[in-house]
Amino acid sequence: MKHLDGLKKLLSANKCLIAIFFIMIIVSFYFSGIVAYSVSNYNGITIVLDAGHGGRDGGSVGVNGTIEKEINLKYTLALKEKLVQAGYRVVLTRKNDDGLYSEIASNKKMSDMTARYNIIEKTNPNLVISIHMNSFSLPSAKGASCYYRANDEASKTCADLIQSALNTYCEAPSNQSKVGDYYILNCSYYTSVLIECGFISNPEEEILLNSEEYMNRFIDAVYAGILLYFGNSYTNI
Ligand SMILES: [Zn+2]
Repeated sequence: MKHLDGLKKLLSANKCLIAIFFIMIIVSFYFSGIVAYSVSNYNGITIVLDAGHGGRDGGSVGVNGTIEKEINLKYTLALKEKLVQAGYRVVLTRKNDDGLYSEIASNKKMSDMTARYNIIEKTNPNLVISIHMNSFSLPSAKGASCYYRANDEASKTCADLIQSALNTYCEAPSNQSKVGDYYILNCSYYTSVLIECGFISNPEEEILLNSEEYMNRFIDAVYAGILLYFGNSYTNI
């Protein structure tokens, strides 16, 4: 009997070892899967970031003097930093204060928008994000809104994810993403989202949008939405 007990103990000890061995295999597969997944998640993905306005076209002006083109560029560069760190390839439509129009063009707005379209077409991106600040005659209007072109499911999905991250992480009132009839959304067939980050016509929101702390939180939320968008997209392949 003693011998049999010993054998039983040995067997149950072996069962334990076998179980631990299998758990280790499963865990290592799980983690190697995660690593492989996140690498393939970022590799080869190109995002065009478009800072709205520039040069002669300052965009809206805030109640306390915020110039839209300047704050758009600040947000765009902060988002670029995060995306590049994560391994995405980022192409900017503008890197500095200058507009993209030709100085000799009679219609500078058209010249500027065509140059942005050309960059998008040449880049062949997986996603286009355009950054703007909103303005309205009613100073109480506030909050961030994400826009996508009509009848484009991929753009809507991405806009929904970014909007929902903004609603969760920022103090802005909860909004729903909307169809937007903007040139930058309609000029190509690439997945595109235009983000109106908030209202610089609202004195409190203008101060908030200009604070480094809020900008970082805002950019983190946009980044989270983009990660989710590509995560979903890649698991579906
Ligand atoms: Zn704008």
